[in-house]
Amino acid sequence: MPWMLPTIWKNLFSRPVTRRYPFKDIREPFSGYRGKLHFDMEKCNLCSACAQLCPSNAIVVDKEAKTLKYNPFACIYCATCVEACPRKAITMDTHYSPPATVKSEETCRP
Ligand code: SF4
Ligand code: SF4
Repeated sequence: MPWMLPTIWKNLFSRPVTRRYPFKDIREPFSGYRGKLHFDMEKCNLCSACAQLCPSNAIVVDKEAKTLKYNPFACIYCATCVEACPRKAITMDTHYSPPATVKSEETCRP
């Protein structure tokens, strides 16, 4: 036990090694960061290529109802849908998806 005293003493007077995210020390995203998804429904033709390739079933296309539903809580931000979309209707920005207390889906319509 006494051999821990120098470490305890040092830690008492040094800065914490963790960051106070999201309140302070927010880092700029690195290049190629995969952040929030955006669907441009003016370009989308509901072909459902994105939904078929999504590994976590985060996108559901309903051609009859003409809707595309996106579940950000199921999404693993792999960007497969962004690369697969033939109309370039899906883009990703460089912001973190915000935390939420209620799980919800986004419904997009052309
Ligand atoms: S980023 Fe990946 S997991 Fe998220 S919706 Fe697109 S394909 Fe699905
Ligand atoms: S977002 Fe792209 S891949 Fe998905 S349904 Fe629309 S056009 Fe097809």
